[in-house]
Amino acid sequence: MPQWQHITYSKEITPALFGQQVTVGGWVQDVRNLGAISFLQLRDRDGVIQVTTLKKRNKELFDLVASIPRESVVRVTGMLKESKEARAGFEILPDKIDILSKAETPLPLGVVDKVGADLDTRLNNRFLDLRKEEIRAIFQIEAKTIEGIRRFLMSEGFIEVSTPKIVAAGAEGGSTLFPIKYFDRGAYLAQSPQLYKQNLMATGLDRIFEIAHAYRAEASDTVRHIAEFISLDVEMAFIESSEDVMAVAEGIVVNSLEHVREHAKVELQKLGLEIEKPSIPFPRVKYKEAVEMVRAAGLSIEHGEDLGTEGEKALGEVMKREKNCDLYFITEFPTALKRGTFYAKRFEDDPETTGYFDLDYKGQEIVSGGQREHRYDVLIEQMKENNLNLDSFDFYLKAFRFGMPPHGGFGFGVERYVQKMLNLGNIREAVLYPRDRSRLIP
Ligand code: ATP
Repeated sequence: MPQWQHITYSKEITPALFGQQVTVGGWVQDVRNLGAISFLQLRDRDGVIQVTTLKKRNKELFDLVASIPRESVVRVTGMLKESKEARAGFEILPDKIDILSKAETPLPLGVVDKVGADLDTRLNNRFLDLRKEEIRAIFQIEAKTIEGIRRFLMSEGFIEVSTPKIVAAGAEGGSTLFPIKYFDRGAYLAQSPQLYKQNLMATGLDRIFEIAHAYRAEASDTVRHIAEFISLDVEMAFIESSEDVMAVAEGIVVNSLEHVREHAKVELQKLGLEIEKPSIPFPRVKYKEAVEMVRAAGLSIEHGEDLGTEGEKALGEVMKREKNCDLYFITEFPTALKRGTFYAKRFEDDPETTGYFDLDYKGQEIVSGGQREHRYDVLIEQMKENNLNLDSFDFYLKAFRFGMPPHGGFGFGVERYVQKMLNLGNIREAVLYPRDRSRLIP
């Protein structure tokens, strides 16, 4: 136990400690008083410990236990004893109970109540919501997901970087930018590290990733958009095509899912979930084929149009039904669709098409990327087509004039990934304190 740890956690209690004195701490989940004996269920980060108080053993402590409101924080010192009745297989007979923080009543949100509260009430009282082990499990799994992603990328020679989140220009179009006041001038919150990660490709730090917040002033209220999301951004140089980039995206998913399966077993169990090993390679569905599949499913969509939420969902259903597959790439997006993405490389022999891809998971886009245009002259032409003010991209463009290798990369929405992995209905469930049009607190 580290010197700064002053309590024993439930997970650390083993039969070897039976008969010894321990100090535990946590929240009072429940107190059951049977007149001569009372059972206090103490919840800590990992589980629940039963504290059993006998009136005849210690009347003062017995009365104290009866007076503690639910969800108060207590520290209990006592003798650890094996118990057939207690769920954990042991109980503590207390000698000392300190109330470290008394909870007010009534609670704004129940912690053990069977009745589910709506998401808004839960988010408004997130600290109480997170006392539920199945809610905490989501974030423990999210942490393991990120750990798995990092490990994989580092093992492949990628370097983790940090780029500015206060920026002068956006990369994804003006409508979703958050303007901010930056000293005596205007600036924006970064929508994506796009321009910086491409800039780094001209430096020798040419295989990089970043895991950081990205900001989008999304106008619509959907279950998959939030204003602040964790973006995993990858960029790599000396590639030959978008296929190289897709291979890395695939590696990230396969390895992080395996990491979660291996290292978050308990948490998955709390959620009643099993994660299947995806088979590789993930199928590649060309955009043109995807449109036909969505049409065949009864949706009206024209070639050149975005598949949209409904289209993606319909495609997800077809892929599941016909290929028993949750993860698949949609490839070869038309240039017209990616026109806003002025940096996408178009096919040499078919400039109407790019190598750009999306990776969809259970009918929802989680990754988008491809090979970028690294030739200065062509890039300038594409930017002009998009009516961009070249002056405001000066720092970005300069790097293309002094030696820029071919490169590509993608943006990968971490919460969307976890949302789909855990079958959560709303992305907000995978965010501790989500930000959206109506939510700025807590
Ligand atoms: P969509 O079409 O679903 O709005 P997008 O095309 O704007 O997404 P990109 O700009 O390509 O998304 O961003 C790459 C990835 O970042 C997306 O695949 C998604 O996983 C994630 N992402 C983008 N915007 C959001 C958002 N508002 N909330 C959560 N995740 C997002």
